[in-house]
Amino acid sequence: MAATEFDLLFTNATLLTADPAQPTLRHADLGVKDGRIAWLGGTVPEGTRARRRIDASGKVLTPGFVNVHTHAILSMVRGVAADLGFAPSYTPGIPKGPQVNPEQARALAQLGALEALLFGSTLVGDNFVHADVTTEAMAELGLRLTPSWRIHDVDFARVADGEWIYNPAIGERTLRAGLELAERWRGNPRVQVQLATHAVDTCSDAFLREIAGVAERTGMVVNTHLGQSQVEVDRVAARTGRTSTQVLEDSGLLNARLMGGHCIYLTEDDMARMARAGAHAVHIPKCNAASGRLAPTPALKRAGINMALATDTQHADMIELMRWALATARIQEGRVTDEWQPRHVFEMATLGGARAIGQAAHIGSLALGKCADLVMLDFARPHLVPHVEPLGNLVHTGQGRDVQMVVVDGEILVEDGLPTRVDMHSVCAAAEQACRELWGDVGREYWR
Ligand SMILES: [Zn+2]
Repeated sequence: MAATEFDLLFTNATLLTADPAQPTLRHADLGVKDGRIAWLGGTVPEGTRARRRIDASGKVLTPGFVNVHTHAILSMVRGVAADLGFAPSYTPGIPKGPQVNPEQARALAQLGALEALLFGSTLVGDNFVHADVTTEAMAELGLRLTPSWRIHDVDFARVADGEWIYNPAIGERTLRAGLELAERWRGNPRVQVQLATHAVDTCSDAFLREIAGVAERTGMVVNTHLGQSQVEVDRVAARTGRTSTQVLEDSGLLNARLMGGHCIYLTEDDMARMARAGAHAVHIPKCNAASGRLAPTPALKRAGINMALATDTQHADMIELMRWALATARIQEGRVTDEWQPRHVFEMATLGGARAIGQAAHIGSLALGKCADLVMLDFARPHLVPHVEPLGNLVHTGQGRDVQMVVVDGEILVEDGLPTRVDMHSVCAAAEQACRELWGDVGREYWR
């Protein structure tokens, strides 16, 4: 190993690996070579060379956070939508996907991706409209993506008025766009396109079966909203006499390549079906809480379902989100339990997400041979002292703003808290301009 020259070498760090075999390593070195973790653990031999050597004393390194369910364009309703009581796509009086033009989509996508990246997400699973444009825009920042078009055959323009009308032409258009996106990014190591089937109430039975066929043929991961609202539950029951989970099962979509977002309104039977199928739950605790809802995560866990974490339309701080996941589970348990400890929510934010998207062999933990996707945090700040239990500090008092450096595939994408590939102020200014236009279109005065 002495002959190795690392591309990047962190020395004397505290590593929170998310690897159950060796969860915390202190006074450890981490070396990166050709985008992979090539040294992990004790001090590298004397004379080891590195193109870039970083003294990580007082710093904590973690795997990059895997944020599997976001809609960056919906940054446009920040500060408003969370107080209206329901998901933006269903809510009247605010800008909607179909109103967003490609230029606005690009600006908002970069804002969302930049926010997530600066807070330590090395992967973002974004889906919405204009995914061709938003994927290009987000990829410019260098982070890993699992993007998708929002695939549905309901006419969303009518849903906010309470009408669910299925139009095969819309289904054909959104699914075709999804497959074209997959074709466009085929072979790119940082971009793996998914099929974001919006929800069971917004996709007809026939369309769900068609998507299942495509997923089977292509092996693509299907990302959906599942048990998101009472409206969904009621609509699906009225249409099919079944639960959303049962309809997914009947359609051939309930399997280990399915990620269900929210998972609030599920029965015990639904959870048993998900567990049997190996389907994954995407826990979105802050969005749920902001709308007065709580996903039954203790029950999901007892059922044996793998859980990932995601910020959805809320601000993209996965560190804060771990705290929400822990607190909301404990509220439901009514006490502190062995099943809900910092290591469990940390796993959800990293390895659990990697499993859900089928990439756990490559990302999600700090381990030899895995992709060098990692985050360096400044633990010298007052709220992170003392360093008795660094993982406890990270989960209970850490913040996205403690992130100093973010690395993907060994490439430094954030340094000293700033992006290396784009100008932060230009990204913010472009997004601000897009929102000024979009809010103007719905007749709402912009604040400045
Ligand atoms: Zn969503």
